[in-house]
Amino acid sequence: MSRAHKYDVIVVGAGGAGLMAARYAAQHPGVSVAVISKLYPTRSHTGAAQGGVGAALGNISEDHADWHAFDTIKGGDYLTDQDVAEAFADEVIEAVYELEHMGLPFSRTPEGKIAQRKFGGHTREFGKSAVERACYAADRTGHMILQTLYQQSIKDNVTFFNEFHVLDLIMVDGECRGVVAYDLATGELHSFQAKATIIATGGNGRMFKVTSNAHALTGDLMSIAYRRGIPIEDPEFYQFHPTGLYKIGVLLTEGARGEGGILRNSEGERFMERYAPTIKDLAPRDMVSRAMYLEISEGRGVGPDKDYILLDLTHIDAEIIEERLPDITEFARIYLGVDPIKEPVPVQPTAHYAMGGIPTNIDTEVISDGQNTIIPGLYAAGEVGCVSLHGANRLGTNSLGDLIVFGRRAGIKAAKYAAGAAYGNLPTDHQEESRRLIDKALNGLAKEKVSHLRKELQDSMMENASVFRTAETLSKQVEKLKELKKRYQDIGVEDKGSQFNTELLEAIELGFLLDNAEQLVHAALDRQESRGAHSREDYKERDDENWLKHSLVYKDGDGVRIDYKLVTLGKFEPKPRVY
Ligand SMILES: Cc1cc2nc3c(=O)[nH]c(=O)nc-3n(C[C@H](O)[C@H](O)[C@H](O)COP(=O)(O)OP(=O)(O)OC[C@H]3O[C@@H](n4cnc5c(N)ncnc54)[C@H](O)[C@@H]3O)c2cc1C
Repeated sequence: MSRAHKYDVIVVGAGGAGLMAARYAAQHPGVSVAVISKLYPTRSHTGAAQGGVGAALGNISEDHADWHAFDTIKGGDYLTDQDVAEAFADEVIEAVYELEHMGLPFSRTPEGKIAQRKFGGHTREFGKSAVERACYAADRTGHMILQTLYQQSIKDNVTFFNEFHVLDLIMVDGECRGVVAYDLATGELHSFQAKATIIATGGNGRMFKVTSNAHALTGDLMSIAYRRGIPIEDPEFYQFHPTGLYKIGVLLTEGARGEGGILRNSEGERFMERYAPTIKDLAPRDMVSRAMYLEISEGRGVGPDKDYILLDLTHIDAEIIEERLPDITEFARIYLGVDPIKEPVPVQPTAHYAMGGIPTNIDTEVISDGQNTIIPGLYAAGEVGCVSLHGANRLGTNSLGDLIVFGRRAGIKAAKYAAGAAYGNLPTDHQEESRRLIDKALNGLAKEKVSHLRKELQDSMMENASVFRTAETLSKQVEKLKELKKRYQDIGVEDKGSQFNTELLEAIELGFLLDNAEQLVHAALDRQESRGAHSREDYKERDDENWLKHSLVYKDGDGVRIDYKLVTLGKFEPKPRVY
């Protein structure tokens, strides 16, 4: 195979966002499109999504896009850009019907409409009570989306480079001209020249010890962009999902509470009644995760160490559980030996979703500063991007919606740009940085083991920068990361081969993860308030006067520099968040 490729549009990532983008770009007449993915496409994390995709179809009870926009903004603790939330709530309705027309096998109501269920933070009439907005295919919604989109992309003649690991963006004179990727099968570097590049590489949950995220979610492109001078927006807002399986973090969808599941403490009490009297267990995730930790810290945790909470589904009809929540029921049986039909399941908050990411405008064009300066030829969509739909806390089901709405926008916009642009030349040394990363790992001293450093990173992030934070814990973590970065210089791998050298890639991924952790911790230390998923015990209140703004974290030599960007406000005025 030739190692130099040329496509009008290159998409990095084959999850929901990448595939949606690729499909739409490929529909533009005369535009060639390739997808590069480090995983075989259907192994992308989108396939693990369970509970549903939120859209105000109103199939079960009355619903409106305006209510959805409001819930998204309030759920995001008013850091959400309101123009984005409004466009999203409108477009996601059409996008869900489009998936249906592509053949996605949604669960159905008795009269044959797309079935919908309740989910955290989704309400009717601006907060009055919970509403059925999550469209689902049992608890395998993401799996169905991914399979459907992959089939369609093949039909649309998108070219796939599977098990190709992108190691660098080719940036010349402030514009993006493509990427460099490592071919896992041969160990060779390939150059992909493109007029437009779309980044759709998903999240970075592997920086934490307990996480719902797949092994591949190491934030590669959030680090590569950062190394190339692009800021990361709002990385301090990292979501912990309330119901991970105890100690393992494997997710039990919020759909379980949408179907009537209840969280209980050691006294059997439904404690969410005290924290969110109106919607109780269906409060947004940041609030529920905090409430669980508070119950535990006040001695009402369950188990010998009093360190978990119970998710109780035993009062729900067994048939409904088996039909609508088959996968998570299996997970509880297999991993914990607990049958959710008969007994409550031990759960704890699990690192789940990055609200922040590579900053873009509403059209998914990557921007380089607080003045929204566009980087020509570069786009980002899905979890890796920050169009700022989710603000300081994402509502359940809004990520799958984000993928299809902004993945589509990215594909359309990038193809249009590419159709009117010429290829820029690639500098002769454009593979140098990728080569350096590989050589460093292959020829390193191997004084430090990658697996040890990764464990120390994950343990310390969990301890110092997870649900609750203080200046003290965050400063401690800044120092820990400095130490880990220094020790990372002395890593090395045992496998020196060129075929399927996954050890080498894991070593490089650890370097990316360390950058992601650095972005998060510095922004969290800087932000002296509590908002959404960012909860500072030393600054307990939300402070709109000083902090109603997005963070932009830049790499600055060996340190970081933080700048800010205004939040786009709209008709929903920031108010205290009560549920
Ligand atoms: C267990 C679980 C359940 C969830 N349930 C829901 C839900 O019910 N509803 C909801 O709205 N959200 C849910 N989410 C969140 C949602 O699924 C994710 O945010 C979303 O799927 C991310 O999609 P994506 O397209 O951005 O990236 P992903 O699907 O993660 O795909 C990333 C792609 O990038 C590629 N990639 C990454 N790095 C590189 C690299 N260096 N080079 C080449 N390729 C690369 C990978 O190969 C992959 O193809 C869930 C998440 C988890 C973990």
